[in-house]
Amino acid sequence: MNYSVHTLILGSGAAGLNTALQLKSLGVDDILILTEGLDQGTSINTGSDKQTYYKLGMYGNTPDSPVQLAGTLFNGGCVHGDIALAEAALSVRGFYNLVNLGVPFPHDRHGQYIGYKTDHDPFCRATSCGPYTSREMCLKLIDAVKRADIPIMEQRTAVSLLTVKDRAAGAITLNENGEFEVFRAENVVFAVGGPGGLYKESVYPAVHTGAIGLALKAGALARNLPESQFGLSSVKFRWNVSGTYMQVLPRVISTAADGVSDEREFLPEHYAGAGEMNSMLFLKGYQWPFDTTKIPNGSSMIDILVYIETVIRKRRVFLDYRANCAGFSFDALSREAYEYLEKSNALFGTPLERLAKMNRPAIDLYADHGIDLSKEPLEVAVCAQHNNGGLAANDWWESENIKHLFPVGEVNGSHGVTRPGGSALNAGQAGAFRAAEYIAARYREYSLDETLFEQAATNELAFLNQYLTRNRNSNDWQAERLEFQARMTAHGAQIRGENVCTAAWSQYTRLLEQGTQWRGPNGKAEALRNLQLCLAHAVYLEAIAASIRQGVGSRGSALELYPDGVELPGIGWRYRMENREFRSQVQMTRFDNGEVKNYWEPCRPLPECNGWFENIWNDYREQKIYE
Ligand SMILES: Cc1cc2nc3c(=O)[nH]c(=O)nc-3n(C[C@H](O)[C@H](O)[C@H](O)COP(=O)(O)OP(=O)(O)OC[C@H]3O[C@@H](n4cnc5c(N)ncnc54)[C@H](O)[C@@H]3O)c2cc1C
Repeated sequence: MNYSVHTLILGSGAAGLNTALQLKSLGVDDILILTEGLDQGTSINTGSDKQTYYKLGMYGNTPDSPVQLAGTLFNGGCVHGDIALAEAALSVRGFYNLVNLGVPFPHDRHGQYIGYKTDHDPFCRATSCGPYTSREMCLKLIDAVKRADIPIMEQRTAVSLLTVKDRAAGAITLNENGEFEVFRAENVVFAVGGPGGLYKESVYPAVHTGAIGLALKAGALARNLPESQFGLSSVKFRWNVSGTYMQVLPRVISTAADGVSDEREFLPEHYAGAGEMNSMLFLKGYQWPFDTTKIPNGSSMIDILVYIETVIRKRRVFLDYRANCAGFSFDALSREAYEYLEKSNALFGTPLERLAKMNRPAIDLYADHGIDLSKEPLEVAVCAQHNNGGLAANDWWESENIKHLFPVGEVNGSHGVTRPGGSALNAGQAGAFRAAEYIAARYREYSLDETLFEQAATNELAFLNQYLTRNRNSNDWQAERLEFQARMTAHGAQIRGENVCTAAWSQYTRLLEQGTQWRGPNGKAEALRNLQLCLAHAVYLEAIAASIRQGVGSRGSALELYPDGVELPGIGWRYRMENREFRSQVQMTRFDNGEVKNYWEPCRPLPECNGWFENIWNDYREQKIYE
């Protein structure tokens, strides 16, 4: 089937849904949301202890301003100032749009939206509606999209992003029957989320793989690809084990690969005693992401020790809430940990009893997902959680090199090395407003050359069909997926150093030349999905290798092992310290004619904000703001 639409929105997460809504409100009516499903993706399926939404401060007499918030975003390093300012400027609008749609963000009796302090946040700008903030956002956005009668096609897997010359032109999807469908579009809003499917150890929802590889294959520029967040999470049911899950001090054990035999406590190998070990475990509660500034003596050593057990020693790691660790004593804890437990009236019992006292819903959450913490230990690993980098777009969220393509949400790499917790959700909403406004102002007319489009679609369909009929690879799509996911977890996640690009490209070439085994419509979709994921993993690994060659060093959530570097006591590793000069540069990556090119460009500064009303009014009326 062939379809034609003015603006195609690929993906129905919080970012895609809001873009559709804003387009409609600006009178761009010929739009269509194409998605794997309204119940798919990260936003509607994920959460955390207190899932955070970051916004401009708006409580009491604490002053805040777009420039101050932009400064905080900019200070994450490797961020362009104009993009940070747009995210800050749209923050209030994005937030109140959600409030008006009914998202239950808490306010006081005067209507003020109270905030709290999150990581990398100098003020108390963060808010939350509980563990499922992004889900609440999606549910209300979906209601609004349905009320606005915006067409949605579900059970679609996008397998190609179509481009004509240097512009987006549409997409090819597979429907639930395994049939190709071609969509011609004047504009494509690319809202496919983060690259969850790239990692074996991942806390992205299992259903979410992402699709950045489609845009990379089309030659879209990417930015800061190596910058991601990793942290300790449960794997049977994917959830960050932050907050009280760590503060109640579970016993941390590992077993052989069967998950039962050869059980032992492995952290004591590294620590002088149970007191020191448990004090670090306690800190992990609110220092959740792996952070290279929290080694060698900080809480991120715990992540490294878990990585050694799981990835290097090929064992499995569990948090056991049923018993205290060997040698456990409250008196040996750091003052901070002791006082916290004391104030929580939890200086007693087993970790599970303390968890029941401090945060009963934390136990219920796992029970709701079939895990009884009183009967079984909780398997954990250091997992991929968020990509700060992604596709490179300008401050109207249009791709830097593919016109009419608008990456919004996590697939847009607007963040840098660090970001305040919760700013991913803000960025998704801000980007939705910017992309919709630009499309409505500049791209209402039709300009796509139909003949060129037909050619592009025909060529792409031929390529996809050839791939599907190649049958020389004995591996099924599951084995192929596991191969690149394991490579990314071992070498492209929080521990880096070894260059595995050759292996990555040889897998991609094997897929292209030999195909893969698949059965049925679902297998067909997954076999095609592997193509874009496998390409993406190779491009990410190239970007990481380039950053290592350049001497960027360890920063954010990634530690670079380096034979001449600083020693990590106790484990015999050496790592390269960060070269801070790269904090003022953005890493750009492009897959072009079978080659990956990387280069660095200076961060654009925060724009001056010394405007004068009459002048800005003029610029606005004359549409100069879009130039
Ligand atoms: C455990 C966890 C906790 C988090 N906590 C926070 C937090 O506290 N604060 C915060 O700001 N952020 C947090 N994040 C990050 C945040 O949730 C995500 O960045 C955000 O929800 C992404 O929204 P999105 O709309 O960009 O993508 P998603 O919500 O992932 O939506 C992507 C959409 O694209 C569709 N799609 C993808 N590929 C295809 C394809 N090939 N064909 C068709 N459709 C496709 C999907 O089905 C889905 O509809 C967390 C993430 C995780 C995993």
